[in-house]
Amino acid sequence: MAAEQAVPPAAAEAIVAWFPAAARDLPWRRRRNGYHALVSELMLQQTQVSRVVEKFGPFVRRFPTAAALAAASEDEVLTAWQGLGYYRRARFLHAAAKAVVERHGGRVPVDDHAALLALPGVGRYTAGAIASIVAGARAPIVDGNVTRVFQRLAARDGSAGDRAVADWAWSEAERFVERASDPAAANEGLMELGATVCTPAAPKCGGCPLASVCRARREGLVDAIPAPKVRAARRELVLVTARLVRESDDAVLLEQRPREGLWGGLWQPLAVESADGREISARAAAELLGLPAAVTLRAAGQVPFQTTHRAVVFVVFDARLKAGRAASALARGGRQWVTRAAIGEFALSNAAKRVLRV
Ligand code: SF4
Repeated sequence: MAAEQAVPPAAAEAIVAWFPAAARDLPWRRRRNGYHALVSELMLQQTQVSRVVEKFGPFVRRFPTAAALAAASEDEVLTAWQGLGYYRRARFLHAAAKAVVERHGGRVPVDDHAALLALPGVGRYTAGAIASIVAGARAPIVDGNVTRVFQRLAARDGSAGDRAVADWAWSEAERFVERASDPAAANEGLMELGATVCTPAAPKCGGCPLASVCRARREGLVDAIPAPKVRAARRELVLVTARLVRESDDAVLLEQRPREGLWGGLWQPLAVESADGREISARAAAELLGLPAAVTLRAAGQVPFQTTHRAVVFVVFDARLKAGRAASALARGGRQWVTRAAIGEFALSNAAKRVLRV
């Protein structure tokens, strides 16, 4: 590696010196332990810090230990995870808690990097973050923030998604944490710097503890590094959807999505995928949804919803049903009538909440 493409050696100690006074007061930093680190790192994988700040406290109060989480049902875990999105992580966290109980007597193995890596949902970054932050291990960490900071410090061009850039960042991260007098402060400070100072847009170079050693700053390349990622267009998904309401108690009919795939295992109003569903008539929608002839649907408009990879359109139909045999017959195959008062006990995606106006 050419010297000019390396992270300056002085960066590690500059961050160690800067971090204690700059650290934000975040709930998972107040009481450090392996379980809190595991929960917060999984929550933070694809969700903004401000949202995790709201959700972390209630989650660990409800499941205060790995054993408590392991003993909970999947529905309870998914319900507590509501609002964080990417529910696959909730299942991984649940499975990781069970593995911690079975393999490690309920204690997250913070001082065993290989054992951490063997936990469901824990990759190289998460294992490194837990091992270094909780146990002070010299374990490297690389995520999007770290890669961007390293690329700017070294004036290394390329997109953060490139394989070569990722490999380079991991080897730089190893050297970085090897040099640090305090691996926990160096790694956590590095993440903090990427999140609060060396941000993707408008980095605050004037207040940066690394300004004097940053090559991108010196060469006027800060805005050009890293190169923007080329994003794939979102795939469209059209869901023909029925909001069926039972008149006697205003209950709505919900079904559970398949465990795998988009919103896996979450609850929603009845919905069927249909590529040409945007133009569908009420009668054809009822047929597609497998509703009996007694149910008369009424078109209620379209609800768009974007996920990271999908542009989803819910083509919504409404119907109100009298309580009785026809309504009871619809609650089969896992479908359930759920009152507004009870709906909070069901894990719904944000998209389903929007459709149901919950
Ligand atoms: S000087 Fe600017 S570009 Fe360089 S590390 Fe600091 S904030 Fe990032």
